[in-house]
Amino acid sequence: MRVYVSADLEGVWGVVHGEHTFRDGREHDRARRWMTEEVNAAVEGAIRAGAEEVMVNDSHGTMRNVIPEELHPEASLITGSPKPMGVLEGLTAEFDCAFFLGYQPWPGRGAC
Ligand SMILES: [Zn+2]
Repeated sequence: MRVYVSADLEGVWGVVHGEHTFRDGREHDRARRWMTEEVNAAVEGAIRAGAEEVMVNDSHGTMRNVIPEELHPEASLITGSPKPMGVLEGLTAEFDCAFFLGYQPWPGRGAC
């Protein structure tokens, strides 16, 4: 089983302020750790459920939020920009399922 994970930041546990989400925010590095922990929990769950491959796409802002050296060792990471497919970068029909983590509702517009 191949699992695709698209991860945003605004909906991650503990994220409640622009200082968490803006690149230069005082709390941004804390929020990046929380995001990475949530991604890792999803990766671990996918592996326990039988995933043989898990690909994570960092989808918030600069798309450089997930801390690479703290990412679950069984996952691969798409990071940085530009990404022509944005929040869906790397997603193909070869994946069996997709997780969308940390997204928030924005009336009339997409996430990020
Ligand atoms: Zn975002």
